[in-house]
Amino acid sequence: LRFALKPKVFASAAAARCMSSGNTPTTKLFINGKFVESKTNKWVDNFNPATNELVTRVPCATQEEMKAAVDAAQAVFKDWKETSVMTRQQVMFRLQHIIRENISDLAKVITLEQGKTLADAEGDVLRGLQVVEHSCSITSLQLGETLGSVTKDMDTYTYREPLGVCAGVTPFNFPAMIPLWMFPLALVCGNTFVMKPSELDPGATMMLMEMAKEAGVPDGAVNVIHGQKESVDFICDEPRIRAISFVGSDRVGKYIYERGTANGKRVQSNMGAKNHGIVMPDANKEHAINQLVGAAFGAAGQRCMALSTAVFVGEAKEWIPEVVAKAKKLKVDGGTEKGADLGPLITPEAKQRVCDLIQSGVEEGASLVLDGRDVKVDSGYEKGNFVGPSILSEVKPNMKCYTEEIFGPVLVTLNVDTLDEAIELINSNPYGNGTAIFTNSGAAARKFQNEIDVGQVGINVPIPVPLPMFSFTGSRASFQGDVNFYGKQGIQFYTQVKTITSLWRQEDAGTGPTPTVMPT
Ligand code: NAD
Repeated sequence: LRFALKPKVFASAAAARCMSSGNTPTTKLFINGKFVESKTNKWVDNFNPATNELVTRVPCATQEEMKAAVDAAQAVFKDWKETSVMTRQQVMFRLQHIIRENISDLAKVITLEQGKTLADAEGDVLRGLQVVEHSCSITSLQLGETLGSVTKDMDTYTYREPLGVCAGVTPFNFPAMIPLWMFPLALVCGNTFVMKPSELDPGATMMLMEMAKEAGVPDGAVNVIHGQKESVDFICDEPRIRAISFVGSDRVGKYIYERGTANGKRVQSNMGAKNHGIVMPDANKEHAINQLVGAAFGAAGQRCMALSTAVFVGEAKEWIPEVVAKAKKLKVDGGTEKGADLGPLITPEAKQRVCDLIQSGVEEGASLVLDGRDVKVDSGYEKGNFVGPSILSEVKPNMKCYTEEIFGPVLVTLNVDTLDEAIELINSNPYGNGTAIFTNSGAAARKFQNEIDVGQVGINVPIPVPLPMFSFTGSRASFQGDVNFYGKQGIQFYTQVKTITSLWRQEDAGTGPTPTVMPT
């Protein structure tokens, strides 16, 4: 493969995504290496969350279009699978380079469609880029196993082979990182792919398709369809799709897991969360408060690993006024504005839902010590879906603001007397995505890491998302499936093991008795 690298070819983010026809910008499908206008009559209007101005119209792809995407992926699979592993590795080297060169353009599209601040959007790209970088280790990651002489003249060895056509369904909150958890690893293992990004912010995925093409991913090896339930049902039912990676809400995750596995597919489903941060009275106060506030309100709380629930142990509850004071200092603004700490929520409906959950806390007896519902953001953002940092204290485990994932800039706080009580509280919560403890006691930290039943644990680290040499190991109600995303498990998910047992003998084996019994 030969490439002509052109840095900054993706400078016009909007053009990469929309390639507008007429006055209404439309997002294209990406099928067999081409951006194509959908023939559908069903479109989803997509608004800038900071202004509620129309950004693009996203098609709900027709059955024919979705089938064409799978046809393309199926047609190129055999060739792509047989491409040498070092060629696939070179494509990924190229892709990581192109993404790195264009981080700021990708970030602009993310901020436009999703609302998060530009700096945070760059982090969104960077965390996905790290998975592409990791995929460049495929020459080691995809190694099989061998054992010689399992019996006389007989050897056994395994290959990790690609599955075929795989598919990915992604949420709105990480428009670059989560697609990058999926298609690069699937491709580098020799699979082909159909992406179904969130209909709320597909722009980053479309730019990534251009970059994948530029990097040398062959036409058809990766495709993008758009839509909502119908497109997801298509993916779950299409017999040629062998595996589905899903990240999003509980409701959809369980549905895809059930429908996909019922159709014999591999499914990995990362879902919702309620992440607790324990604050011990012996913690470094400044560090704990700073990290807690950043992790609760960053990205307006729209992170599956947001630290949305603080559990103050003993006297640590006296720090709550300082948490409030710190949260008050955060600047709510359009994501492109300098100094913005948090941007808007994704839609007006999401804003309404978050405000309703805050109100439910008040009505159920919690204390609203910081109310961001009436936050005013001016200079052009009056119509945006903004909610300022909000804190509900004295929350009890039976309150709706505790039992539901809020997915907004709301910190709920609970008070307990002991570490044991805090552990019991967290282990009684159905979710197991992430948790953190802030302490200066090694013994407390060790007890916590041993006894807590949550898949990703931070010790003085608020959002312990593992780097891609590890895997994203959310557990319990936050995950359905057997094999997690990225890292070694990601390679396992996108490959199946073929085991060869071979007999090569120098002398003629002869024609002894016909072996009708198992060897004893
Ligand atoms: P969502 O479930 O609404 O959407 C995710 C995908 O499912 C989208 O592509 C969407 O088009 C599709 N979809 C929506 N409704 C559907 C339906 N009825 N049938 C079939 N498909 C449907 O999730 P979201 O609001 O985009 O994302 C937020 C959620 O994702 C939160 O719960 C968050 O915790 C979770 N999340 C989890 C992780 C993780 O790794 N555990 C990471 C990011 C986000």
